Amino acid sequence: MPCLVCNSHRLTPRLDLGAHPVSSFFLKAKDAPETAYNVTLGDCADCGTIQAMQPVPHHALVPPYDWLFAREPEEHLDETVENIVALPGVTTDCVVGALTYKDDTTVDRFRRKGFTKTWRVSVRGDLGVDNPAANIETVQKLTTAERMTAIAARHGAADILIVRHILEHAEDVQGFLAGLAAMVKPGGIIMVEVPDCTTSLKLNDYCMVWEEHSLYLTPKTFMGLLARAGFEPIRTDIYPLPFENSLVQLARRGTPQTAPLTPAEVAAELTLLPAYAEAFPARTAGLRAALTKLRAEKGPIALFGAGHLACHFVNFHGLADLIDFVADDTPQKQNLYLAGARLPILPSGEMVARGVKTCLFALSINNENNVVARNQAFLDQGGTFYSIFAASPRSVHALIG
Ligand SMILES: [Zn+2]
Repeated sequence: MPCLVCNSHRLTPRLDLGAHPVSSFFLKAKDAPETAYNVTLGDCADCGTIQAMQPVPHHALVPPYDWLFAREPEEHLDETVENIVALPGVTTDCVVGALTYKDDTTVDRFRRKGFTKTWRVSVRGDLGVDNPAANIETVQKLTTAERMTAIAARHGAADILIVRHILEHAEDVQGFLAGLAAMVKPGGIIMVEVPDCTTSLKLNDYCMVWEEHSLYLTPKTFMGLLARAGFEPIRTDIYPLPFENSLVQLARRGTPQTAPLTPAEVAAELTLLPAYAEAFPARTAGLRAALTKLRAEKGPIALFGAGHLACHFVNFHGLADLIDFVADDTPQKQNLYLAGARLPILPSGEMVARGVKTCLFALSINNENNVVARNQAFLDQGGTFYSIFAASPRSVHALIG
């Protein structure tokens, strides 16, 4: 396959994590059959972008459950909306459009500022998809110039278009960007947000890799991406977060003047993935040794949080045999099993009931302290919380000798 961003054929596979099932496919029985997809990341010698060598097709990603949703970081949204409102030409008469449910809280912020002409692409009404479980994986696939031209004609082309945390899911990046452009008036503004992979690449945290992501962007490779689709960047902000920073770009539809990355900048990007790939075997061996020791000294180990990040940690590093169960109080997840690892998902009270002394957080680093505070009984029985994330102050990676 050519580069998703620039069509170059100079794409090199660097990190092959093996074949894994889709994380959202929680199993109803421990021995239920699964379909696995190869997860390999490569980088492009021409544009420097890290990407999936073979994105998992969208139809294989439609989850079998309709109660899944992603919570994206929101702390920076007030500031982002202020930045947009301060741009020349923006008045409360502007049409604010949005692509997915992840954009609703941003649109709400505009409405509170007096913007009344707002709309958001509806999965059922605009895209004609009846499956209530269809989500980001379906919207990214259906975001094409043709469909979006019709949607813009129906709702009114956007003066301001909000697109949070979906670009990195695009299977056909150039078609997706053309779809975005079709929704925006000439001279209109687009706000695109993606996760920044820099921290995970530098800290050798492989939970970053997700079968639903096609692009693994850094500030540099993100910077010029919208310019390829006819948007001139206005500003790109990096909002720091412990696991993945948020990258937010504001750009104006028009004739981009932005130059692509220089050869030196591309060369710098091309150092990231080879180093990350090279460190993988040692990190896996280190995590295995650390968990084996904890288990020998303290007994059973639980993971906390049955989401895709828990799947990645256990499945990519092959650690399922060292973990006993996943604690998660989400009612719909009870009695299901984690994809790939086939670990049972049980209420968090089981940690105390079963005398567990070691628990690994697989939830937002920002949320760790709250969960610690709610689990005094676990601490009272001598329990210790660690985190699967390299960037957490409780990181289990720190135990690697
Ligand atoms: Zn490329």
